[in-house]
Amino acid sequence: MTVLSPEDCAVFEAILGPDGVVLDRADMGAYAVAARYGAGRPAAVLRPRETSEVSRLVAHCVARGLRFIPQSGNTGLVLGSTPDNSGREVVISLERMTGALEVDPLDRTARVAAGVRLSALNAALEPHGLFLPIDLGADPMIGGMAATNTGGARFLRYGDMRRHVLGLEVVLPNAQGEVLRLSGGLRKDNSTLPLRQMFVGSYGLLGVITEVTLEVHPRPAETAAALLIPRPHAVLELLVALEAEAGETLTAFEGMSRGAMDKAFAHVPGLRNPFPNGEVPDYAVLVELTRSAPARDGQPSLDTHLESLLAGIAARDDTPLADALLGPADHLWALRHALSEGLRAAGAVVGFDLAFRRSAVFAFRAAACEQLASRFPDYQVCDFGHVADGGLHFNLLRAGGDAEAPARRAELRATVLTLAIEGFGGSFSGEHGLGRANQDTYERFVPGPVRRYSARLAGVFAEGSVGAFRLSTEP
Ligand SMILES: Cc1cc2nc3c(=O)[nH]c(=O)nc-3n(C[C@H](O)[C@H](O)[C@H](O)COP(=O)(O)OP(=O)(O)OC[C@H]3O[C@@H](n4cnc5c(N)ncnc54)[C@H](O)[C@@H]3O)c2cc1C
Repeated sequence: MTVLSPEDCAVFEAILGPDGVVLDRADMGAYAVAARYGAGRPAAVLRPRETSEVSRLVAHCVARGLRFIPQSGNTGLVLGSTPDNSGREVVISLERMTGALEVDPLDRTARVAAGVRLSALNAALEPHGLFLPIDLGADPMIGGMAATNTGGARFLRYGDMRRHVLGLEVVLPNAQGEVLRLSGGLRKDNSTLPLRQMFVGSYGLLGVITEVTLEVHPRPAETAAALLIPRPHAVLELLVALEAEAGETLTAFEGMSRGAMDKAFAHVPGLRNPFPNGEVPDYAVLVELTRSAPARDGQPSLDTHLESLLAGIAARDDTPLADALLGPADHLWALRHALSEGLRAAGAVVGFDLAFRRSAVFAFRAAACEQLASRFPDYQVCDFGHVADGGLHFNLLRAGGDAEAPARRAELRATVLTLAIEGFGGSFSGEHGLGRANQDTYERFVPGPVRRYSARLAGVFAEGSVGAFRLSTEP
């Protein structure tokens, strides 16, 4: 049973025209399924083209008490962009909000409508020698990236969306569908409280982001990459050595376990195994150096520079480096980007998006592997992650398929999360944000006062019910 009355549908159609309102169950299918989860059931899918339309839709939903969920590329991994099964939640899809895409090379900024894809933005930036350096294995929309504060594989050098958002336009969930415009493109602005930052990483809970102004960067003129095999227990020492030797040219340091790499080689068609004799090491690190200024006459190429600095590190008495394979960056990144796909193809994965102080990543990993080996020996650890910024996609793959009792799976989740958060001071959501998939974890692990103030702060902006997640305050 839908909660929408014929009058609601008439209002939506008057705002958007008939092609902007999707009510047919089959047509709503694509908006109901999230990247990694099963389907929910939208009451309707609304597809505005302009901010004024978003404003009128939001005002109507608030007036009628309808919960609505902003949805962009729908690549989020925590069930934040799709409705539940009640048939009572409306999806506002930003996919047709693609009108604005203005590049300003002098300011080195881009003003972008929320529904523009990352790939489309980068295609528009390329002729200007610019790019948005947030790199991930999906192609989300800019509004969704701001709403989730996307991190990605080059966080180490460039940071997350928060560091790039210089301005925002957002429609607030109130009876007027008020449009708030925050700092249009200023790099420095200390004239107000930092409201703009409230909306970066707000997971659709504070309103609908309709436009974003971003700082963008010069494209790399030269890239060099290598797969490094660290000595046992020496990944962080290797990172510190590289940071000292490569300076700001170091753009990525991505850890990959043998379990994760094996699954990618086994299941992703066409993926090349670069290791000598195909022997996959226990752990490897993909390292990337980039230079945005072209090499000058006589300056060694970046490949040569990388090779010589690795040779220097390898020659140290206490070297953290066991071996290194240099190769075309594209080939090496293909392995990194294939890890998720390989795991999904291999079977049922219990996944965690953890983050730690980076000094705690491998201490946690060792303790978790030990606990799992004794209590959950049927699970294989197939982790990978942006370890230079403390990120760890701690994935567990169950041998022999996915027929697992829900209670044991819940026990496994609780074991890992308790160790990560209470044992090692980690976060249960390093970069994927909040959604229905981690609602229980939020309630269990986020301290009461933090939840209480978060809910109060959200109430300042949101009069209506917005977003898939609930900022609960219950103990
Ligand atoms: C293969 C793969 C790899 C990934 N790798 C990474 C990674 O390395 N780093 C990383 O951080 N993430 C990663 N992700 C997760 C995901 O791609 C990001 O979270 C992405 O930024 C989500 O953007 P989206 O446009 O798909 O948003 P959606 O999935 O549509 O929405 C995500 C959340 O934002 C809210 N939202 C969406 N649009 C708006 C809007 N306009 N206004 C207000 N709220 C809105 C939604 O309600 C929801 O809560 C990966 C996902 C996949 C599938």
